[in-house]
Amino acid sequence: MKNNRLGIIGGGQLGMFTCIAAKKKKIESVVLSETNEFSAKKFCDKYLISDFKNLNDIDKFIDSADYFTIETENVPISIIQHIEKKKKVFPCSKVIEISQNRLKEKKFLNSITGIRTTEYHEIRSFEDFKNASKSFSYKCILKSKELGYDGKGQYKINKNNLDIFKEFNFKNFILEKFVDFKKEISVVVVKSKESSIHYPPVENIHKKSILRESFYPAKISKEIESEAIIKSFEIANQISLNGVLAIEMFILKNNQILINELAPRPHNSGHWSMDACNESQYDNLINSIFFNELKPPKVIGKCRMINLIGNDYKKIDSLKKKYRCYDYFKKEIRDSRKMGHYVILDQLNF
Ligand code: ADP
Ligand code: MG
Repeated sequence: MKNNRLGIIGGGQLGMFTCIAAKKKKIESVVLSETNEFSAKKFCDKYLISDFKNLNDIDKFIDSADYFTIETENVPISIIQHIEKKKKVFPCSKVIEISQNRLKEKKFLNSITGIRTTEYHEIRSFEDFKNASKSFSYKCILKSKELGYDGKGQYKINKNNLDIFKEFNFKNFILEKFVDFKKEISVVVVKSKESSIHYPPVENIHKKSILRESFYPAKISKEIESEAIIKSFEIANQISLNGVLAIEMFILKNNQILINELAPRPHNSGHWSMDACNESQYDNLINSIFFNELKPPKVIGKCRMINLIGNDYKKIDSLKKKYRCYDYFKKEIRDSRKMGHYVILDQLNF
């Protein structure tokens, strides 16, 4: 088969699972990693270690594969555009550009009829910050526009901590109104030229702004479920998605859905699809790039996916005896670092 090489920017666990899915479908994977040790190292066919901004290396990377994808949206957009001059990237630069910047993302989402995010203000100075915080009754979150993940670059604001930010460099920040949500859910959509599919909503539990666990099915009504799916397809269509897009949502106490953020790639809350669906989010990413034929997932049963964060990882050997465990092969344990996950199938008693 020709055109069977996939270049993946980033070699973390999402890249690792993409390599594994690629191999099953006889696709060769080439990973571009900025670090020497990375999760996908053992699973890719080739790798290149380089700063994402090194254009010489990027040109070598471009020559080494036929199609390209990302496992993190935190890649300089100029590099994606550079690759796109020669080869196709999934999703395309326009999708990545919107979802890597919270301000662009929020503007885009609120421009779609029927889609809303929480209220927000762009912040450029302490004065802006004070006024905007007041307008939100001091219940808000300061977030960096770019490069944030797992709650990094976020500061919860209250009436008493405003002054801490007096000397703060507000370049590239927004302030979001705090959402007193009932639940968090997410939907993963995959789109190719001819078809679109979705994974049903999962419910997400975060602790300290890091995803702790996701479970299927989400405990939501049929109405909310179908509204969440309709909204997800609307977003995927409006952004002209090619590839995978995860849509994180808040469900309010009055059942209104607000979109929290988009991730233009396989998502942590979609890991469950590897165990509880016949075709995972990673499999369908490969299908969308190479086969143009998506497989709507058949769900085999209830599932609970639990992340192993920081020292949780020390439990992995005992967990292995009972559950399906995934090791991300990270070089060292760090607080707040996702080290692995495990899955409990067909059981929702918790
Ligand atoms: P990240 O890119 O780090 O995932 P998010 O914006 O998704 O950033 O924030 C991480 C988590 O923090 C969310 O899943 C949610 O639990 C909480 N959070 C973020 N923004 C808000 C908000 N405006 N109101 C309430 N909780 C929030
Ligand atoms: Mg998030």
